[in-house]
Amino acid sequence: MSESKMGRRDAARRALTVLGAAVLAPSVLTACGEEGGALSCNDTSGLQPAQLAVRQSQNYVEASPNAEQTCVLCRFYTAAAAGQCGTCSVIQGPINPAGYCALWAATA
Ligand code: SF4
Repeated sequence: MSESKMGRRDAARRALTVLGAAVLAPSVLTACGEEGGALSCNDTSGLQPAQLAVRQSQNYVEASPNAEQTCVLCRFYTAAAAGQCGTCSVIQGPINPAGYCALWAATA
């Protein structure tokens, strides 16, 4: 096989690899990240059943019904980088800064 055919074949293989990564990347990013311009922090696939039960029993929601009581204003919230889900010391899993749950408590 000529060198130019091998070169074209390698180039095509690399292009398909890059294309495949570009197609897969959004599905990975939406696990916790921006989805359609809005931050989504609903991926609870890594939680144990008991952790998920606490999250649900405390009625965690992605968007607080009260702008003055959001996760970012809660003492249990730890922010991540801009545009990323944060964490909470009492509710496991990704936490939306605009979210809310029944355990909300104002920062000191
Ligand atoms: Fe958000 Fe509830 Fe955690 Fe406070 S306790 S950061 S309101 S999930």
